[in-house]
Amino acid sequence: MSATGIFSLFPKLSEKALKPLGIFGGTFDPVHFGHLRLAEEAIGQLALAGVRWIPAGQPAHRGQPGTSARQRLDMVRLAVAGNPRFFVDAGEIEAAGPSYTVPTLQRLRAELGGEQPLVLLLGADAFAGLESWRHWRELFALAHIAVSHRPGFPVAATALPPVLGAEFATRQRDGAAALGATPAGGIVTFAMTQLAISATQIRQLHAAGRSARYLLPDDALDYIQTHSLYRNS
Ligand code: ATP
Repeated sequence: MSATGIFSLFPKLSEKALKPLGIFGGTFDPVHFGHLRLAEEAIGQLALAGVRWIPAGQPAHRGQPGTSARQRLDMVRLAVAGNPRFFVDAGEIEAAGPSYTVPTLQRLRAELGGEQPLVLLLGADAFAGLESWRHWRELFALAHIAVSHRPGFPVAATALPPVLGAEFATRQRDGAAALGATPAGGIVTFAMTQLAISATQIRQLHAAGRSARYLLPDDALDYIQTHSLYRNS
C-alpha cells in the first residue's frame, strides 16, 4: 500500500479538529424537553461534535431564580445523563458573580484553542434580546450563533431590533457547512420540532399543584418533587 493509501484510512487531523462544538447556556430553571430537543436537533442539523451545557450561575438578564444554582445544575446533569454527545460545564456555577457569555466563551477559547469552531445555541427569543447582553458584539469574534425557531418568536431580520437585524443580515450563513469553515462569526438558523414548553410554565404548574409530567424528563421531575421546588413560585 502506498503512503497515500495508508493515510487515507485515517480522517485528516484538520477535519477531525474542525467539527463544530455547540455551546448551550441557560438558566434551566428547570431544564425541559424544549431544551433537550433544541440541543439534540442542533447536533443533527448543524453536524456538531456535541453540545456543552452551561447552566448560568447568577443569570445576568433576569432576577435570581428561587432554586439554587446547584439544584439547577443537578437537574441538567440528570436530564442529559446517558447522552454521549451532551457534556455539562459547571464553570459559570462555580464562578463568583454574575454569569456573562463573553467571559465564558473566552474561557472555552483558552481551553480549546483558536481554531475550534464554537456555536452558541440560542432560542429565537434569546437571540431577539441579544443587544441587552454585555459586550454582545464581542460574541462574534468568539463563536458562531445558531438560532432555533421557538413558538411565538419569528426569526427574521425584519422582526429584530434594527442594529441586531443589520448584524443578522450581514452575518447570516447558509447551513451547517459554513460553521465548520471558520471558528466564529456567522449566524445560522435552524427549524426544530416546535415545542411550546417553557420553564415558567413548569414553575407555574408546580406552584398551582398541577402536573408538569411529560414536559421534562422524569428524573428532573422526581428531583423537583423530592426537593419541594417551585411550590411558591
Ligand atoms: P423561562 O420560562 O424561565 O424564561 P426558558 O424555558 O425560556 O425559561 P431558559 O433556560 O431561559 O428556558 O432557556 C435557555 C435557552 O433555551 C434559551 O436560548 C431559550 O431561547 C431556549 N429555549 C427554551 N425553551 C425553548 C423551547 N421550548 N423551544 C426552543 N428554544 C427554547
